Amino acid sequence: PTTFGDEIGIALGNLADAATGTLTPTIRLGVTGLSRAGKTIFITALVHNLLTGGRLPAFGPLAEGRFIGARLAEYPDAAIPRFAYEQHLAALTGRSPVWPESTRRISQLRLVLRFQSTKLLSGLRGTSTLNLDIVDYPGEWLLDLPLLGLDYAQWSAQALERARRPVSRDEAAPFLNALAAIDPLTDATDVAAEGLAGAFTSYLRASREDGRALSSLPPGRFLLPGDLEGSPALTFAPLPPPAGRVRHTSLYAMLERRYNAYKDVVVRPFFRDHFARLDRQVVLVDALRALNAGPDAVADLETALTEILGCFRQGQTNPFMRLVARRIDRILFAATKADHLHHTSHDRLEAILNRLLASSARRARFAGVEIRSLAIAAIRATREGTMQEGGETLPCIIGTPMPGERLGGTRYDGATEIALFPGDLPEDPDSALQPDGGVHLNFLKFMPPGSLERNAEGAAVLPHIRFDRALNFLIGDRLQ
Ligand code: GDP
Repeated sequence: PTTFGDEIGIALGNLADAATGTLTPTIRLGVTGLSRAGKTIFITALVHNLLTGGRLPAFGPLAEGRFIGARLAEYPDAAIPRFAYEQHLAALTGRSPVWPESTRRISQLRLVLRFQSTKLLSGLRGTSTLNLDIVDYPGEWLLDLPLLGLDYAQWSAQALERARRPVSRDEAAPFLNALAAIDPLTDATDVAAEGLAGAFTSYLRASREDGRALSSLPPGRFLLPGDLEGSPALTFAPLPPPAGRVRHTSLYAMLERRYNAYKDVVVRPFFRDHFARLDRQVVLVDALRALNAGPDAVADLETALTEILGCFRQGQTNPFMRLVARRIDRILFAATKADHLHHTSHDRLEAILNRLLASSARRARFAGVEIRSLAIAAIRATREGTMQEGGETLPCIIGTPMPGERLGGTRYDGATEIALFPGDLPEDPDSALQPDGGVHLNFLKFMPPGSLERNAEGAAVLPHIRFDRALNFLIGDRLQ
């Protein structure tokens, strides 16, 4: 699937990077994760913490007193939207804080970091500069990489098998009914294509809802279209193998053309122009949401993680992957929203994430790529406490549930602080994958933290969990 054009495109990109790199070293950090995993919050917190020298004891350069400061700079690539840092921070730190709008498409931002180098020979002995380019993109788009190795018939077979799984029965029924009512070999009309694509898209989206929380369903742009909403490249659906000769004018031929167009104009350029140029990657994972939805969702998350990890694997059979995967040398998998648990469960959450990654990491050959898992909260919305129940002292979290959240018979209004025993994660990570694994979490969405502490300069200090460790792993070594 590699074309000469891809080779040239990537080579030119690397050359351009090398040219700017001779002036100021640049590290390109990809931030991804499935929808609502926490990308927007992660990036907002990262930028704010670096701009204001946040409270980050485990971030080496800051703890060692060598971090001088950071500023925002113009992004070199004018064709990519800028990450709306200022709006997002304003939402979080305003008079009545709200969570900002989530990632819907790719965006970027450049920070210039200044630090005291530990290396004797670093330029003018002392101050060094590093450009940190942050690239935010939906994890759903990564799930499209395998499509590059599948033709329409192969992809259709896979997609239909998934739709017919018992776990998808309710969500997929309208689509499968629509499919049963058409003959793929009749002449194509736009109305028929749109009807089928619409039913297919509704099924994919319904599978992502909280109750199901299924993760691994390409095509990614059907879930998050970015700027492509409604375009013909997104108006297709899987069809069963044709029962006769496929005429050029048939619905089957039309959808096959559109599937191929999707690969050529959507999937391939994304991997070539953006993914291939990353140096480091953080993959955010809402493991708690899957744990809360049950073993099917956890198993599905494992599949999605395996597929995502596959994108970073060296020496893949698919030559396109080999081409794009050679720059990244560190990948962090971060289980987000750890503030929904008491700290006694944070290590367990990391163990579960490790377990979900283990099988694929073992199978993969990761020459020169360091992989780590962490449980984090980029912005901590709860505090910890204890509560008495039935003569027992239980560790609890204290926070304000979002308006409309429910627990038991209570519906919260967004203004009431509560103490909640969130439940424990199992000590043995394997049991999270068992049907009777016994993971019962009280999982509520919380309002962002209300009254934030201010530092000496008056900037808000964002509370977090292990966010400094994440930062240290991602960029600490480049600030030596
Ligand atoms: P994105 O789709 O990956 O960009 O997801 P967001 O960053 O917008 O996060 C989605 C939602 O998850 C937010 O609106 C918050 O409600 C919640 N969230 C994200 N990060 C955190 C966190 O660190 N702590 C808590 N409590 N909630 C978070």
